[in-house]
Amino acid sequence: MYMKIGVLALQGDFAEHMAMLRRIGVQSAEVRLPDHLQDLDGLIIPGGESTTIGKLAVAYDLIEPLRQFAAQKAIWGTCAGAIFLSKDARRPQPLLEVMDITVERNAFGRQVDSFEVDLEIPELQVVQPGSGPYHAVFIRAPLIESVQKDTRVLAALPDGRIVAAQQGRLLATSFHPELTQDDRFHRYFVRLAEGKVTTLG
Ligand code: GLN
Repeated sequence: MYMKIGVLALQGDFAEHMAMLRRIGVQSAEVRLPDHLQDLDGLIIPGGESTTIGKLAVAYDLIEPLRQFAAQKAIWGTCAGAIFLSKDARRPQPLLEVMDITVERNAFGRQVDSFEVDLEIPELQVVQPGSGPYHAVFIRAPLIESVQKDTRVLAALPDGRIVAAQQGRLLATSFHPELTQDDRFHRYFVRLAEGKVTTLG
């Protein structure tokens, strides 16, 4: 199926997402203005600084168009992007408020600003049956404090704290698949954008 995925290119590591999409053979486009959302099947909001992304989205009149997009199409937020998708970040900053998750920014404190950990993510078996654990990279990451309504947990740390969630075609990850060589999450997202919403178990 012909696919075109946009990457919100206001701030942050959008180039890495574009490179990963190229690698898996999916057409991509940078999104900076409301018009750029036309003809897209899905949108990725990259990591970076969620306050900056939010302020720029306000300045470019993108908030309402992005909310309308979220009502119809797939959106995936990584790290700052996950914060921007959330209903509640526990402090005032512009948010899309489209996903029923509450996040805590910079939840891991200073000592462990950045860390990497292997996660068991059963849903990734859908894109690559028999594949092993997922090596996740966290950089000044948020936690998904809680999920509400019909939002499901896709991945948690060994202590149970939530780091990935999905609500219909909306996906949020605290970590950065675009900074690894593992393309399973990008392929998983393309499936969501195609309308293949998977529910395991
Ligand atoms: N700490 C950033 C924020 O709160 C997110 C960091 C990231 O995207 N790597 O927005």
